[in-house]
Amino acid sequence: MQTSFTPQQLSNPDVAESEKILRKCVHCGFCTATCPTYVTLGNELDSPRGRIYLIKDMLENDRAADRQVVTHIDRCLSCLACTTTCPSGVDYMHLVDHARIHIENTYKRPLMDRLIRQLLASVLPYPTRFRKALWLARLGQPLAPFLRRTKALKPLASMLDLSPKTVPSASAFTHQGSHLPQGEKRGRVAILTGCAQPVLDPAINDATIRLLTRLGVEVVLPKGEGCCGALVHHMGREEQALAFARRNVDVWMDEIENGGLDAIIITASGCGTTIKDYGHMLRLDAAYAEKAQKISALAKDITEYLSDLDLPALERNGLTVAYHSACSMQHGQKIVMAPKLLLKAAGFAVRDPAEGHLCCGSAGTYNILQPEISAQLKARKVKHIEATRADIIATGNIGCITQIASAASMPILHTVQLLDWAYGGAEPDAIGRLNKKRAV
Ligand code: SF4
Ligand code: SF4
Repeated sequence: MQTSFTPQQLSNPDVAESEKILRKCVHCGFCTATCPTYVTLGNELDSPRGRIYLIKDMLENDRAADRQVVTHIDRCLSCLACTTTCPSGVDYMHLVDHARIHIENTYKRPLMDRLIRQLLASVLPYPTRFRKALWLARLGQPLAPFLRRTKALKPLASMLDLSPKTVPSASAFTHQGSHLPQGEKRGRVAILTGCAQPVLDPAINDATIRLLTRLGVEVVLPKGEGCCGALVHHMGREEQALAFARRNVDVWMDEIENGGLDAIIITASGCGTTIKDYGHMLRLDAAYAEKAQKISALAKDITEYLSDLDLPALERNGLTVAYHSACSMQHGQKIVMAPKLLLKAAGFAVRDPAEGHLCCGSAGTYNILQPEISAQLKARKVKHIEATRADIIATGNIGCITQIASAASMPILHTVQLLDWAYGGAEPDAIGRLNKKRAV
């Protein structure tokens, strides 16, 4: 694609980077076929190619974002399916990141939209606030049908709909500090405990620590780590996202210097994509660029790390798993086979639902901010998952777990919970219930 940025515009490193990305696009349109919003809405402006044109026009003309650009960029899930499909290697992720920051800096959203975004950015990344908000949401759930009648209040209705009926207690097992390995020590890792995941489903981090320590890996949870910044990063709130990133870099660098780390383990693939991008996000910060690169290089999804541990192959256990690959896993981190191979080796039969490349509509805060498109994608995803007639669904991202669980008739667990159980860990309640049903 030809561009006509001025030398002065290109002196801005963010614009210079976006220009390079834009130039790679050859307008072929292959990406439209795998874009969930194009597939759902059929509008070129809701396709990657259409959005690329809108972004180019806005940046090249040094224009503030307008309503049209904001509408179509807001509808983008940042699922990155387009980056998997694109034959020219267009780095759409960093282009849309730039566009979202530009929107945040130049566009004044309607009052209710601003308030809802402020609420999300002030609550979701903080586990204590998020836990309290979930309790309040339980009380407010009967209001959801009334809120849904007013367009501007629909996101509030979605928040209430998505909040769980019960809020699990905080884990007594997953404590800060070191979890020592059993037997001979094979490694030392930190895990990202995260923000929303330990509140919504503390059993995921519990299973991760149990499995890794049984395999001889010391697991540390350093004091001070927190939200990876992905939620606010995708809202264009760059300063807040970078502050989260810097804090985590400091905490993990301290751990590297005092004990060493073989990896930083992430159990939510949405967070993994962002932490692997810290090196890029902080590339212009002289004090952090090198450290952030180091942290990104150490970041590993739990399934990537387990794949290197040569777990033994187990007998078939009679359970069939429908594996849902989160977009941040397959498109963001390009991890496709590792989770399925681990599940197979652990004794599960694994089935791939049709249209596995399409997003489930969760996408961070998307299911709150774009409830209609999200609901259509969820219905499509659940239909394909249920068609596999598997016993259970496995995935590697808490956002997808929450989204799919709200509609699917089968139980859904994190991949690591199934692996922990298969290799001698505690039985997840969902498997206990399944086995009981089969015994009747
Ligand atoms: S990130 Fe996903 S929704 Fe956005 S343009 Fe690419 S494929 Fe479409
Ligand atoms: S597939 Fe790649 S090169 Fe083709 S239109 Fe989409 S982004 Fe551009």
